[in-house]
Amino acid sequence: MAETDKKEYVVGVDLGGTKILAGVFDSQLRCLGRARLSTKAQRGPAEVIKRIARCVNDVVDECDLSPKQVRGVGVGAPGPVNPESGKVIFAPNLPEWTDVPLQKELSKHLDLPVSVENDCNVCTLGVYHAELKGKPRSMVGIFLGTGIGGGLILDGKLYSGFNRTAGEVGHMVLEVGGPKCGCGNRGCFEALAGRAAIFRRIQAAVKEGQKTMLTEMLGPDLEDLRSGDLRKALRRGDKFVEKIIEEMAEYTGIAVANIINLLNPEVVVLGGGIIQQLADDMMSIVVETAIDYSMNGTTKGIDIVASDLGDDAGITGAAVLARMQPK
Ligand SMILES: [Zn+2]
Repeated sequence: MAETDKKEYVVGVDLGGTKILAGVFDSQLRCLGRARLSTKAQRGPAEVIKRIARCVNDVVDECDLSPKQVRGVGVGAPGPVNPESGKVIFAPNLPEWTDVPLQKELSKHLDLPVSVENDCNVCTLGVYHAELKGKPRSMVGIFLGTGIGGGLILDGKLYSGFNRTAGEVGHMVLEVGGPKCGCGNRGCFEALAGRAAIFRRIQAAVKEGQKTMLTEMLGPDLEDLRSGDLRKALRRGDKFVEKIIEEMAEYTGIAVANIINLLNPEVVVLGGGIIQQLADDMMSIVVETAIDYSMNGTTKGIDIVASDLGDDAGITGAAVLARMQPK
C-alpha cells in the first residue's frame, strides 16, 4: 500500500441548527483543518445531508488529502440518536427530522463509514478522550450554551440510557414552579442558566428600567447580545451583569451537586460557549456551591473543571467517535 493510501485520518462533524462544522483529525487527535457551512435546515433532511457531505469533502480537500486517506466520519447530531441504526430520532432545531437515517444516507454520499451520536454525548467523548486522555473511570460533561446538555461516561464508556436520552442535565428541575422551559416544564436548569433564558431575563429587566452597560454597548434592544458581551460588561464593573453571572454559576453549582450526589463521578467537566467566555468568573462559584450543596464527603477528590476545547469539542468528539469504528 502506498504511503498516501494509509487510512490514518478521520473527519469529525458537528451538525447544528444553523451551522455545520467539520474537522480533519490525525491519529493523535490533532486537528489539521476545519470547514464550516450554513445548515439551511429549512430545506429539509435530504438537502442538509448533502450539505454535510459537501462540508466533509471541502475540509478533506482543504487539508490536501484524498478521501482514500480517510478512515471514517463521525457526526454529532442535535437530538436523540440510535447509534446502532445511525438514525436521528428527532431534532428540535431541525425541521422535519424524525427518524432520519443519517448514517446510511451520508455514508452513501461519501462512500465512507459513518457513525452518528447525540451532540452532547459526542462533546463528552471529545473532552474525555482528547482532554482527559481517557484516564478517569467516570466523568460527567455539562455544556452550557443556548440550551444546556450533558453526557455521561460510566466505567470508561458512554452511557446513553434505556431510551438513549441519558445525560439530559439541562432538564433537572432546580426550582419548582420556576421559569418556563423549552421542554414544556418549569424551573429546569436550562430555563434558569441557559444562554437563551439568561438573555431573555436581561432583556426583560432592561425593559423595566434596569441600568446596564450592555445597553451602551449594544443599544436599547440588546439585539446582538452574545456571551462575550457579558464578559466585557463584567470587566467594566457592571453590577447587574455580575449578579446575573453569579446566579448562573450558583444554579450550575447546584446542578453539579445533584449529579455528584447521584453518580459520584471522578471528574465533572463544564464546557460550551458560556464557559468558554466566562470560566474565570464562574468556576470558583460553581465549585464552592457544588461542595456546599452536595452531601458531606461526596466531593472529596472529585475534580470540577472547565474544558478548554470550546467550539472544537463537537468536531473533536465526532473524530473520537469515527476512530471507534472497527477497522
Ligand atoms: Zn426543561
